[in-house]
Amino acid sequence: MKSIKKPIVIVGAGFGGMTVASNLKELNPSLPILVVDSEAKFIFKPLMYEVLSEELSMWETAPEFSNIFSNLGITFLRNCLTKIRFDEKILEFSDDLNIGYECLILCTGSLSSNFSVRGVDENCYFFNNLNDLKKLKSFLQKFQNDKIKKNLFVIGAGPSGVEIACKINDIYKNKFDISIVERSNEILGRNKIFNREEAEKALEKRKINVLLNSTVQEISDQKISILDGSEIKDLDQDIVIWTAGVKPNLPYIDAQVTQKDGRILVNENFQIDNCVNSFAIGDISIIKGMEDLPLTAQVAMQQGNHLAKNIELLFQEKELLPFNFEDNGEMISLGIGEASISALGVTLSGKFAFEARRLIYASKMPDISKSLKSTASWLFQKKSTINNFINKKP
Ligand SMILES: Cc1cc2nc3c(=O)[nH]c(=O)nc-3n(C[C@H](O)[C@H](O)[C@H](O)COP(=O)(O)OP(=O)(O)OC[C@H]3O[C@@H](n4cnc5c(N)ncnc54)[C@H](O)[C@@H]3O)c2cc1C
Repeated sequence: MKSIKKPIVIVGAGFGGMTVASNLKELNPSLPILVVDSEAKFIFKPLMYEVLSEELSMWETAPEFSNIFSNLGITFLRNCLTKIRFDEKILEFSDDLNIGYECLILCTGSLSSNFSVRGVDENCYFFNNLNDLKKLKSFLQKFQNDKIKKNLFVIGAGPSGVEIACKINDIYKNKFDISIVERSNEILGRNKIFNREEAEKALEKRKINVLLNSTVQEISDQKISILDGSEIKDLDQDIVIWTAGVKPNLPYIDAQVTQKDGRILVNENFQIDNCVNSFAIGDISIIKGMEDLPLTAQVAMQQGNHLAKNIELLFQEKELLPFNFEDNGEMISLGIGEASISALGVTLSGKFAFEARRLIYASKMPDISKSLKSTASWLFQKKSTINNFINKKP
């Protein structure tokens, strides 16, 4: 084993970073690992809808990084990466701190993208991180006692748009006329057919309008302008939630790094071209030859798991192994107490799917249950009992 003097630095402790850090520590406890994140808390994004509906509390889905990592025996630093000097193997942070590394793993995720549509940043709510969730929740609560129905638009009929529309409908019954605006001719265009059909039923049952083949042109503080065929419609809006897409979160990257569609291009071992011992996984990366992988926690966690094994091989001076994605299916929440699951040939919907979804997510968390003993969350307490269920799962 090659001896290393500087740490392995993991920047971004979301699904990819958390998985690579905890697996690497387990594989080789003697490796010096430093995890850096600009935020204080991990956020389990697939369960943000349940925080909005108060089916889960904030603390259950957003544990403190400092607790998680101290229990894993990994050093954690809260700081924001601003620049990488790849040639010198130096990272620059927002408070002028510079850190040298032996090996670098980048997994800083994605940000909402406004796709250059006018008025989006100023007039829309987003749903991509903890701050977005808090802002949206406190804004929606203002309408709790309103007698007059408000016009609420959700832009984008991907999983986020459909899930949030169903959830808001169920929380704030009869407070909003909800419309989903989608540029293409179908909802959930990249999802499994079973989930799409269940979602269509869920939207219909809730009388949520779905405006297909409709492209948002501009959003002002009171209107939303939509191109429908050749006609432009200006509709009154009280709230617009933008879930139309994301872009990689890479403000620290310079021209030296090859990018594709704005994401860092890596090879099948996650190595960044021309940058020694530097890797990227999760939403910020795109693998040469596997460009169609979805931007999901499932992908980021499988990559984190694989990369941990590869880093161990790297320090043993052995050949790295290529990554293969295994599609374990997908789950969508459809309002309070309902969900749809399509996984490895098995489909489930309704209340049982809702419970199964929560339990499966709990089991998919990186192994941080020890660090959360004090908070005794159901999410993690149930982890061991549900592992049997998950192992039997499709
Ligand atoms: C509402 C919502 C629901 C979702 N539901 C699902 C689902 O049901 N199933 C599924 O598989 N996927 C789902 N996803 C997608 C999934 O969450 C992402 O694909 C996944 O989080 C990507 O993991 P990652 O490690 O690349 O990035 P993230 O998990 O986003 O982590 C990135 C981390 O990097 C940190 N960071 C960013 N910039 C810096 C910097 N400059 N310096 C230091 N730290 C930095 C951030 O604070 C963050 O902690 C959902 C996403 C959203 C928004």
